[in-house]
Amino acid sequence: MKLILLGAPGAGKGTQATKLSQKLSIPHISTGDIFRNNIKNSTELGKKAKEYIDKGMLVPDELTISIVKDRLMQDDCKNGFILDGFPRTIPQAEYLEKALNEMGTDIDHVVNVSVADEEIIKRMSGRRVCTNCGATFHTVFNPTKKDGICDNCNASVIQRDDDKEETVISRLKTYHEQTEPLIGFYSKRGKLLTVIGREEIEETSKAVIKVLGV
Ligand code: ADP
Ligand code: AMP
Repeated sequence: MKLILLGAPGAGKGTQATKLSQKLSIPHISTGDIFRNNIKNSTELGKKAKEYIDKGMLVPDELTISIVKDRLMQDDCKNGFILDGFPRTIPQAEYLEKALNEMGTDIDHVVNVSVADEEIIKRMSGRRVCTNCGATFHTVFNPTKKDGICDNCNASVIQRDDDKEETVISRLKTYHEQTEPLIGFYSKRGKLLTVIGREEIEETSKAVIKVLGV
């Protein structure tokens, strides 16, 4: 199955994509994770991306599209994939549509995880990520078993630089201006499924599984 998870930053896309990826045995592709790994390893891509990420802006389409292009060509994407955080602009969505059509395929479904801005702010302020494996937790809604330690790999968990309140506000603005129009883009193509993401993680997960019929 070829899926896109759409939604505001902090809506729970990564949380749901991790679970779905295990359930469906297809890779979870997060452009945010790819950028963060590049930043951690001080690559040229990481240096360029960091300038935008720190300001709550989107990384330019050209750069973002080229990393997705490389990733989708890898063997493990043959039987499907879950895109989390891509596309985030209409040109990115147009690129993806064209690239998949050229390969004789298309996206099956786009799941829009819909969450109000007030809830998003609560979620991002408490988000903690593992410095080693990238697993995501929340201080209140999904705490680690041991304080500050990842449940999966025992490395330390930290707050993301771009989860500071002032960056969160600009990321939400960016989302409304540049990413929200994708809801109409995929709705017109008959691909859009919507899940109200305000429920707890497990409830949201059940709702995602239900709309997808998996
Ligand atoms: P995204 O990938 O959309 O940016 P995440 O999956 O990282 O969002 O979730 C943002 C934060 O909210 C994380 O700290 C996560 O643990 C928490 N979270 C995710 N889904 C829910 C939910 N349904 N209820 C409460 N907290 C959630
Ligand atoms: P995320 O982990 O999905 O919240 O992404 C973190 C940051 O990476 C975003 O705020 C953007 O600056 C950048 N980013 C991730 N995906 C994209 C994308 N598809 N297009 C442009 N920028 C992106």
